[in-house]
Formats: sequence, structure tokens, C-alpha cells
Amino acid sequence: MISERGRFCAICGAMDEVLLDNLCETCYKKEHPLEIELLKSLNVAICTDCGELRVLSTRIDPGVGDESLEEVIREVVRSAVLSKFRSGYPYDVEFEDDIRNDKIMNYGVKEFKLRTKITLQPHEEFSPFEKDFVTRLKMKRTICNDCSQHKAGYFEAILQVRAADKRKLTDDELDRFEGIINTMMKQYEDAKLSYILDMEVVPDGITAQVSTKLLASNLAREIQAITAGKLSLAYELKTTKRDGTEVYQNTYLVRLPEFGKDDIIEYEKDIWKIRAINDDQMRLESLTDHKERQIVRKRVEKSAKKLNDFLVPREYMLVSTEGQTVVMMAMDNYENFDDNLERLPFNKEVGSTIKGFLLDEKNYYIE
Ligand SMILES: [Zn+2]
Ligand SMILES: [Zn+2]
Repeated sequence: MISERGRFCAICGAMDEVLLDNLCETCYKKEHPLEIELLKSLNVAICTDCGELRVLSTRIDPGVGDESLEEVIREVVRSAVLSKFRSGYPYDVEFEDDIRNDKIMNYGVKEFKLRTKITLQPHEEFSPFEKDFVTRLKMKRTICNDCSQHKAGYFEAILQVRAADKRKLTDDELDRFEGIINTMMKQYEDAKLSYILDMEVVPDGITAQVSTKLLASNLAREIQAITAGKLSLAYELKTTKRDGTEVYQNTYLVRLPEFGKDDIIEYEKDIWKIRAINDDQMRLESLTDHKERQIVRKRVEKSAKKLNDFLVPREYMLVSTEGQTVVMMAMDNYENFDDNLERLPFNKEVGSTIKGFLLDEKNYYIE
């Protein structure tokens, strides 16, 4: 670029002006206008259900971050305005708006205004280029796609929890699995399209309609990991869309193992509590001497017998000890009787209460 004095502007012929590329300031600015598409109006769609914003073709989930809706909208519309502006030179921009948090969800407020002032000085010789304009932010309160799918009862997958055999699930088991599912769902509270439409909790098992395959698969994996159960997946063709794509509904089935953690079982003529279980091992605690054993899961499953339904839960107090003999008291009838120290869990002190059960008229102590 050449800048010199004492020559003519190539367009208007003005003399004694500062020239750039042989043009005076007025002509130069006419030839090189700021490349900005002035956004006179901008649609701001907001979901009245979840607060999702749609501006131009961007979707913004305001669920993440701690910013107020006012701040989120401000940020989005500002960047929408600037996305229409190209400049090879550094520029200054000032914004002013009347977006107010308490008016955003107010149907009576049809629009906000955003004023944008862009200043750019590509050449020291000339005064700055300036553009000052107002964009009307037209507020559209709607229900977003995800929310309307939720309302319409849309779901992609089914989660099932069933027992291994044909047996029913106990109330404890049902409570536990329902609890796991509810706890996990809390992590998805702010996530898009993550909901359980309907959950049936009956003795036959749990059946839940889950919004997405990913969510159902995550829930199933968690329950599978905790129970060491088996996870299987079945697909069922639901519909074929107009464009030919086939829509499948997935069913994620967690089959609980025959024996689970905390079950009381009879195995090799001893009574045990299952302490832990994974894909191929079980850790059992003998209720005869409270020593633990690690055993291949299949071996236990082949010959063990579950005793949960045959025992009567009971509480005891350790009254006194003398050598290997202990005096116990049953808390339900305050009856005292003798027992053997090694049949008690480790490190119990006189006066402490112990949970256990009665089986075939014999007392067992768990913890
Ligand atoms: Zn000129
Ligand atoms: Zn929504």
C-alpha cells in the first residue's frame, strides 16, 4: 500500500488528501466496505420445558454450567451476530441489550434488542470504520424436539432385570435394583433425552422403558457389574421409516445369577454367606468358623442350596465369654444359652449385638 501526499484521488480527483491505493478516505471506504451482514432480526427459540435454545442452526443445552439463562442467550446471540462478520484486521465490538432473566419465559415479551457497535481501524491514516446496528431478537417459546418426544412417549430401549431361575425376586432385591437405577438416573438429570418413561417393579422382575439405547445399556451394565449377572441384548424391528431406515427397539436383559451377594447357602455340608461374586469366582464365609474361601463359581452353583427362604432372622447379644465358651442372649425372648466362641464373627466384645438367624433350631451369627 502506498500513501503519499500531493496527488489526486483516482476516483473523485480530490487533492491534498491522504491517499491509500490512490484513493481518498471517502472513496477508499466506499470501495472497501466492512464485510458484515447486518442481522436485522434473529429468531431465538427456547424450549419452555427444558430451556434448550436454538439460534440460527445451533442448539444449546443450558443445563450445563452455572450461567443464568440471560447470560447464555446473550452469549449465543452475540456470537451469532459476529459470525456474519469477516475482517482481516483487529476490531473492537461493543454490545448492549435489554435481555432480562425475568422476561425470558414471559410470553408477553415478544422480543429483545441487541445493539452492536463494531469499530475497525485498518489504516492509521484514516479515521476508524464504524458500524452501529440493532438486531431484534424474536423470542419463540416452543417445545423442543426431545421434549416433545418425551411427551409423546418415545423410547428406544427396554431394560429388564430377571432372576436366573423361574423364581420371583424378593422385596429386598427389588428395592436394591430400583435404588441402583434411581441413583444412576440422578447422574443423567441434566442430560438430553435421558429419561425412564415407565418402570414396572413386580416380583417377576423390573421392566423399564428407557429413552435411549445408550442409557439403557449403561443402566444394564451397572446392574450386571454389581450382581455378576448375565447381560443379553435382543433387537426387535419396531418400524420402518419412510426413507427405508429400520428402527429397532433393543431389550437389555440382566439375568441375576442363581446365587447373589449376601445369600446364605448350604455347600459341602457347611453353611456359608456369599461375600462376593464375580464372573467366575465366589468368596464364601463359613458360618461355622468365619473363615473365607475362594471357590470357582460354577462348582458352587452346581451343588449349593440357597437357604434364604428357610431361615428366621434373629438378633443376639454377647453376654459373657469364658475360654472357648460364650453365653449368648436372643433379643426376641431374652433367653440365654451357651455357644462356641469360634462360631461368632471375629472381634466381638461382651455387650455387642450380633445379627444372625435361626435355621433348623440352630443359631448362626453373621455380623
Ligand atoms: Zn476520492
Ligand atoms: Zn426441551
